[in-house]
Amino acid sequence: MRICPRCGALQPEGTQCAACGFKFEQPLQTTQGTRVTVSQLRDYALLIVGLALILMLAFAAIVVSCVLIAR
Ligand SMILES: [Zn+2]
Repeated sequence: MRICPRCGALQPEGTQCAACGFKFEQPLQTTQGTRVTVSQLRDYALLIVGLALILMLAFAAIVVSCVLIAR
């Protein structure tokens, strides 16, 4: 059993609330056996993208400084 986050109705396990039609986030089984929700995966993806951007900026700064020093 679970409680609908939108209307608060008590629901049997399912993909959708029978009272208001709210779609529940389905926990996903990963290869490591841990259960994660879609929003957790989205946060994780954003973190990876942010780290990649920072690394790219740092790399660009290093390249630019090397070019400036080489002149
Ligand atoms: Zn509901």
